Amino acid sequence: MKRLGEGFALQLSTSGGLVQTRNVVCATGAAAVPWMPGWAGALTVPGIVQHSNAYQYPAQIPSGSVLIVGGGNSGVQIAEELCGSHDVTLSSRTPRRYRPRERYVATAGTTVSWLSGRRRPEPVFTHSAGVSGAITRAPAVVNAEGAMVTFADGSQMQPTSVILATGYLPGDAWLPHLAPHEQRSRTKTTIPGLFVAGMPGYSRRGADTIDGAWRDALTVARHVTDRP
Ligand SMILES: Cc1cc2nc3c(=O)[nH]c(=O)nc-3n(C[C@H](O)[C@H](O)[C@H](O)COP(=O)(O)OP(=O)(O)OC[C@H]3O[C@@H](n4cnc5c(N)ncnc54)[C@H](O)[C@@H]3O)c2cc1C
Repeated sequence: MKRLGEGFALQLSTSGGLVQTRNVVCATGAAAVPWMPGWAGALTVPGIVQHSNAYQYPAQIPSGSVLIVGGGNSGVQIAEELCGSHDVTLSSRTPRRYRPRERYVATAGTTVSWLSGRRRPEPVFTHSAGVSGAITRAPAVVNAEGAMVTFADGSQMQPTSVILATGYLPGDAWLPHLAPHEQRSRTKTTIPGLFVAGMPGYSRRGADTIDGAWRDALTVARHVTDRP
């Protein structure tokens, strides 16, 4: 996408050809591209190696041990689901605080404490039973070679399968390089007529949820109708 001259015209290159327009809304998702750590390419386990976006149900994973890399919401929930049928190890990089999933909206809170100014661990939402003894905990994975995985404390394991619950990248790679957006006018960018919805980097915390994307969509609609 590019701006044509200094006027109002924006030009999009699409798979169907060029499109010229006054307004463009980037709504291509905050979690668009599964992110795989570099060491994953060197893994050759007897079972499977897959990103959490390809996980559907326990029978899909060959029997034996499963290393789940990533202690966020996806990793913890997949670990809970697999621990009844597999020998599960959950590797996480940072300390976590676990909260009941039913209280999602009320307990999401802010990342920085207003009292201490310190950054808090991100809350992970789960059924409380899942983080008890049925799941073995391990520190971050730092390397992998063949079937052997090495953790940050120097310990190692040879899992049958590995699930990479390592998150996603936003789908904004097609945007031109943007200067920082104006904080006071969420979803706007420094290019007149170009708006971004559903991505916290261009909006606010929570924009990458269904509720947040809806609010951004409303804000963008107002910006578009208010434009000269
Ligand atoms: C594992 C996971 C669990 C989640 N759980 C929750 C939850 O419990 N509650 C919650 O509120 N939110 C949850 N979310 C977030 C929720 O999915 C998003 O907030 C919501 O889908 C955002 O909607 P969106 O329209 O902004 O983006 P998306 O739903 O990601 O839609 C983006 C669309 O853009 C398309 N696209 C991408 N690139 C291009 C391109 N170049 N050209 C044309 N089209 C393109 C994609 O194909 C896709 O259809 C979860 C997300 C993930 C990944």
